[in-house]
Amino acid sequence: MYQLPALPYGFDALEPHIDARTMEIHHDKHHATYVSKLNDALANHVGLQAKSVDDLLRGFDSVPEEIKGPVRNHGGGHANHSLFWQIMGPDGGGTPSGPLGDALTEAFGSFEAFKEKLTNAAANQFGSGWGWLVVHGGKLDVLALGNQDSPLMQGKTPILGVDVWEHAYYLKYQNRRPDYLAAWWNTIRWDAVEQRFAAAQG
Ligand code: MN
Repeated sequence: MYQLPALPYGFDALEPHIDARTMEIHHDKHHATYVSKLNDALANHVGLQAKSVDDLLRGFDSVPEEIKGPVRNHGGGHANHSLFWQIMGPDGGGTPSGPLGDALTEAFGSFEAFKEKLTNAAANQFGSGWGWLVVHGGKLDVLALGNQDSPLMQGKTPILGVDVWEHAYYLKYQNRRPDYLAAWWNTIRWDAVEQRFAAAQG
């Protein structure tokens, strides 16, 4: 059975960028529901329950047809939010250094150009979804995906992601998604993203 991971900091840890009430509902209600519904979907699929949620999504093509829908939505939701909590934290923001900083400059021209590209991808995602920084074929790329679709389903490894479902920002920012995105950059724990980048390089 999959379990809701504890938030690695307090609900108010990302204030003023992301408000405590949003964090509480987002983690304790939304993420909890993805986990619960994923478990329901896999109730009769013991072999799949043994996989990590990331491996479940990497192997999405072999998931039985009758549970593909809930695995995509709720498995994706579980994996995406598990990453999201880890790549944010108090005292976040700034810019990455080391190999990731170098790779971002190489792939996008500069850190600022990367930031603009991911911000635009997330801002322009129509309806619910996520903006992603992924590693694919040893290279960095930015993309946006709808709903809870995970880059893992495309064989890509997400190392940074931003949730642009309205539940992620509406209490504080209402319709101002660009304001939420601008604030979100101040929550990023680049050390965590750097670790994911190193792991994705194998
Ligand atoms: Mn969410």
